[in-house]
Amino acid sequence: MEKPPIELWGDTPVKAGSKKRIRLEVGESYTGLSVRLPLLVWRAKEPGPVGFISSAVHGDEINGTGTIRELINNPGFTLTKGALILLPVVNIIGFERHSRYMPDRRDLNRAFPGSVTGSITSRLANLLTTEIIARCDFGIDLHTAAVRRTNFPNVRANMENPGCRDLAKAFGCELIVDQEGPAGSFRKCATELGCPTIILEAGEVWKVESLYLETALRGIRNCLAHLGMTDQAPIECPEPWVVNSTQWVRAGAGGFLQFHVAPGEFVEENQLIATNAGLLGLETELIYSPHSGVVIGMSTMPAVSPGDPVVHIAKVPQKDISKLEKAHDRQHEDSLEVRMREDLATNVHIVGVREESP
Ligand SMILES: [Zn+2]
Repeated sequence: MEKPPIELWGDTPVKAGSKKRIRLEVGESYTGLSVRLPLLVWRAKEPGPVGFISSAVHGDEINGTGTIRELINNPGFTLTKGALILLPVVNIIGFERHSRYMPDRRDLNRAFPGSVTGSITSRLANLLTTEIIARCDFGIDLHTAAVRRTNFPNVRANMENPGCRDLAKAFGCELIVDQEGPAGSFRKCATELGCPTIILEAGEVWKVESLYLETALRGIRNCLAHLGMTDQAPIECPEPWVVNSTQWVRAGAGGFLQFHVAPGEFVEENQLIATNAGLLGLETELIYSPHSGVVIGMSTMPAVSPGDPVVHIAKVPQKDISKLEKAHDRQHEDSLEVRMREDLATNVHIVGVREESP
C-alpha cells in the first residue's frame, strides 16, 4: 500500500513540532452538505513512530471521545518523537444519531478495508485505510460495551503479532484478551496492513466515565512512553494476565434479574451469578457460571428474554484464579485497579447470594 507522508494531507502541510486540525471529506449528507472527518495531527520535532488513537468507530461509544479530547487539551506529556493522529469520532455519521451504526445500518467495524466505489460505510472504511492506516506504524482504538452492557477494562490484541503484543503489554491493563478481532474490523485490517493495532474495551455507551478516562489515558501514555515518543517514563502497572477464550452466559427464561457478581469479579465453575425472577418475586431460573474465570462484561439491563446476554466470562483455569486473587490482595486500595472494580460494582445493584433457609 502506498504510504502517504505524515507531513502532507492533500494540499495541507503539517510542520514538524506543530499540531494541525484537519477535516477529511467523507461524503455528503442527505441535505447535500459535505460530511467531514475531524482529526488532529500532532508532530514532534524529531522523527519517530507514527500512531493513531481513535474512538467511536461505533458511533455511540464515546468514552474514548472524552479521552481523546483530554489528549488534545491536556495531554500531560510532551511529544518528543514521531507523530500522533487523534480521531475523536471515527463514525462521524453514526455519532450524529447517537448510534453504533452507519445510516445504511452497516457496522463500520466490519467494513474494512472498504472500497472507493462501495456503500457509504465501505467508502468511509476506505478513507480510513488509505489516509490513516497507511500513514501509521501502530494504532490504539477505544471502544466500550454495546448498549445496555458494561465492560471491565480489557485490552484486546492479536498476541501472535509482535507489535500488538508489545503494545498490549505496555498499555498496563490487568486483562488482555488474545484475539485477532472480527473480519473487517479496523484493528484486524490495520494489523494485517502492517500497523499493529490494539483496542481497549471498557465501560458503557453514551458516557464519559471518570475511571475509563483514567484507564485509557494511563494506557496510552504508557504505550507512547514505551515507544520512546514522550518525555515520560511508563507508570508501573500490575503484570497483565492473558485469556484467549470468553463466553456470554445467557438467560434461559424471561424475567427480571438480580446480579450476584460484579464486573472484574472472579467466579468459580457452577457459581450462582444471577437469579432470574418474575415481577412478583417467584424465581424462574438460577443462572450459573459454566466456567471459572473473570467477569469482563455484564448486562446493565435487568429485564431479560430467553437468549439475552447476562454475564460475559473470560475463562481462567481454577488453579490460576487463586494466583490472581493473591495478586489482587497485594494491590493498594488507592490503585486504579481497585477503584475501578469498586466503581463498576456500584454501577449495577449487586446482591449477595441469599442463604438457604434451614
Ligand atoms: Zn465498539
